[in-house]
Amino acid sequence: MQIKYIFVIGGVMSSVGKGTAVASIGRILKSRGFKVTAIKIDPYVNVDAGTMNPVEHGEIFVTDDGTECDQDVGNYERFLGENLSTDNYITTGRVYQAVIERERNLGYRGRCVEVVPDIPKEVILRIKKVAQKTQADFVLIEIGGTVGEYQNLLFLEAARMMRLQKPKDVLFILVSYLPIPEKIGEMKTKPTQYAARSLNSAGIQADFILARAERTLDEKRKKKLSIFCNMPNESVISVPDVDSIYEVPLSLDREDLATKILKKFGLNPKKTDLEDWKQLIRKIKSIKRKIKIAVVGKYFATGDFVLSDSYISVIEAIKYACWANGVSPDLTWVNSQHFEEDLNSIKTLSQYDGIIVPGGFGSRGVEGIISAVKYARENKIPYLGLCLGMQLAVIEFARNVCGLEDANSTEIDENTKNPVIAILPEQKQVLENNRYGATMRLGGYPTILKENLKVYELYKNFDLIKGNKIFERHRHRYEINPKFIPILEEKGLIFSGYLLRKDRTKLMEFMELPKHKFFVATQAHPEFKSNPLKPSPLFYGFVRSCL
Ligand code: GLN
Repeated sequence: MQIKYIFVIGGVMSSVGKGTAVASIGRILKSRGFKVTAIKIDPYVNVDAGTMNPVEHGEIFVTDDGTECDQDVGNYERFLGENLSTDNYITTGRVYQAVIERERNLGYRGRCVEVVPDIPKEVILRIKKVAQKTQADFVLIEIGGTVGEYQNLLFLEAARMMRLQKPKDVLFILVSYLPIPEKIGEMKTKPTQYAARSLNSAGIQADFILARAERTLDEKRKKKLSIFCNMPNESVISVPDVDSIYEVPLSLDREDLATKILKKFGLNPKKTDLEDWKQLIRKIKSIKRKIKIAVVGKYFATGDFVLSDSYISVIEAIKYACWANGVSPDLTWVNSQHFEEDLNSIKTLSQYDGIIVPGGFGSRGVEGIISAVKYARENKIPYLGLCLGMQLAVIEFARNVCGLEDANSTEIDENTKNPVIAILPEQKQVLENNRYGATMRLGGYPTILKENLKVYELYKNFDLIKGNKIFERHRHRYEINPKFIPILEEKGLIFSGYLLRKDRTKLMEFMELPKHKFFVATQAHPEFKSNPLKPSPLFYGFVRSCL
C-alpha cells in the first residue's frame, strides 16, 4: 500500500481540540489494523519548545530521543500507544534552520533560494522522512494554528504541493467550530463556511469537516455545510463535546470516519477493534469514588484563570492511575506561594488524600513547596515527587532531618554551604559533549533499581524491568550531589534507583522513605510515558496508597 498522508487544519478558533482530533483519527485507523504515526507542525520560529514558558505555551513534552516539543505530541503518543521521535515535531525554526544550513553548504548549487518553493519543499522532505523511517501506512500531520493566520501559510503551501504530487494519497480534514451563541440559542455554521473558503484561497479543498460543537450537528446543518463547503453530506462529521477526550475516538467511530477515509483513498474497509478503548470508557463511566489530590506547584496562574495545561501529562497520568484503581481524581491546584505568604495555611493540606509536586524551574515559590513536602512527610500523607519534586524532597530531608539548615539546590541559592542538589563538575563535561550540546539531561535514560524496595516492586508488578533496568524520560539540569548521599542515607532516606554512567559515576534517579506509607520521588518524568491503557507504576502506587 502507498503511504497515505492526512493533513489536519484548524478553522474558526484555537483550542477546539485539533490535537485530540488528530490523536483520535490515529486511534481509529490503528484500530483497523494500520500502522499510524503523527506529526505536529508548530508554526513558531522557535526551533523547539525547550525555551517556551509553560504558562504561555502549555506543557513542554519530551520524547524518548530527547526533543522538547508541543504537548500535542504527548496526546498522539497516549492515543496511539507509540513512541514518537524528534522527526515528529516540525517548527518554522527547524525548517528555516535546515534550509539556511543547506544554503551555507552550497546545497542549492549556487541558485537563489526562495521562500516558495524551498521552504515548503523542506517541509515535505521532513514529512516524507517520517513516513520512511516509521514505515507507517498513515501519516497524520497537524498544522498548528488556524487557517487564515499568516504563520501557517507556508505549511498549507506544502500540503497543497503534496496533494498535487500525490493526488490519490493526500487528504485534508478541517477541524472547525460551530458556536451556539447563548442569546441566539442556535448553532451557527457561517464561521465554518468562512474557514473552508479561507482554506480554498490557499488552494486547498477540505475532504472532511470535523464539526466541533457543544452539541451534535443536526441534518439541516450538515446539509448546509455540505453545500457551502463543497463536499458530500457524509463528509461532515459531527464531533460534539464529550466528558473525556478519550471518548472522541468512539464518537468518530460512530460517524464511521475510518471507513469514509479508507473509501476516499480507495482502500478496502477493515474490521475495527476498539474493544480495549470501549472498555476503558465503560470503566471511567462506572466510577463513583473520588480521591482528593493536591498538586503543589507554580505554573498555574494566567490572569484570573488557572492554567492546568502546563502539567497536562501529569494530570493525565494521575487519571490513568486512578482509573486503574477504580477511582477518579478530584484535583486541586495549590499555588505554593500562598504557603510562603501564610505558613499557617499549610494545614489546609490535611484535607487531601495525597500530594504531588511536579517539575519546575527557578526559585519562585520553592520555599512554599518545601513546606508542603515537610507537611506530607511529617503527617504521613502519600507523596509523589517528580523531578523538582524529588530535588525539593531531598532538600527538605537534608534540612529538617539531617540538620543541614541551609541545604539547597544551587539553582535556587548559588552560595549555599550545603548544595545537596547541584550541577556536578564531571556532568558539566559530559553534558557539553553530549548529542544536544545543551546543558539539560533530556529524553530516555536507563535506571538500575535496587531490589525489594517500593519502586522496584511497583515496576516489577507492571513487568517493566528489562534486565535490571527501567527506562523513564528526563528534563533537568541539576542532580543529587553524591557528596551528600551518605549523610542522607544514614538518616533513613533511601535512593532506590540510579543511572550508571560510562565513567561509573551514579546519578540518583529514585528515592523513598521506608517508614512512610508512600513517600516516593524521582528525578525522571514518568508522566511522559504514562498511557490510558498502561498507567505509570509510580502513579499507580501513589493512588493505591491514597486509597
Ligand atoms: N529545575 C530542576 C532542574 O533543572 C528540575 C527540572 C524539572 O523539574 N523538570 O534540575
